[in-house]
Amino acid sequence: MKQLILQNRPSFASSIQVSMLRQFTFCKRIPYFAVCIGLRPKSPLWVVQGKSYELMRQCLLKARMPQELNNLGPEKLEFNIFLSSDELGLHGAADAIIETAHGPAVLELKANPGKLNRGSELQLAAYSILLEKQRGVESSHAYFVQGKPIKVTRFKINQELRDDVYSTTRRIQEIVGGGTLPDSDAEPAKCAQCEYLNFCNDRD
Ligand code: SF4
Repeated sequence: MKQLILQNRPSFASSIQVSMLRQFTFCKRIPYFAVCIGLRPKSPLWVVQGKSYELMRQCLLKARMPQELNNLGPEKLEFNIFLSSDELGLHGAADAIIETAHGPAVLELKANPGKLNRGSELQLAAYSILLEKQRGVESSHAYFVQGKPIKVTRFKINQELRDDVYSTTRRIQEIVGGGTLPDSDAEPAKCAQCEYLNFCNDRD
């Protein structure tokens, strides 16, 4: 199996980062803080994610390929693949892409076990759609790879998820284009763990 790394990243002034879909699902105010204001939290999430990603990358390279992925007949495993679409207005780097006899699939790598929530599903679906647009082939499933020993969760990129990616992207673009802090229905438990709490004046 061959490992490829692609790191040619153009700048996208008007394009939304795929990770913003997950953050928007957590709270719709985050795109405003992150994109309109350009705030950078003290302990950026991407640093933690970067460590998780590297740990999992090493696991996949050194350990035996998990059975669920092995069954796909993997032909190539690529890490940190940049994907974008001007048409969609989305860009970002997928953790990994596995090429199989059935077509390519996006992998999200997490060192620590966790639940696959709607935000993670949207993010993986968005990468899958970008992958399809960029390579011109269908990517019907994605995989959440986490923990040690590695657990693999497979899910289908169905039409409902695809529609949600398009509508969520449009909503984020409206917030970013409008430049106005949106209302939030985030409950106190979310705010308590949010890195933007200091900037939300209407929250305890
Ligand atoms: S503190 Fe609460 S309302 Fe403000 S951005 Fe975070 S989750 Fe949203």
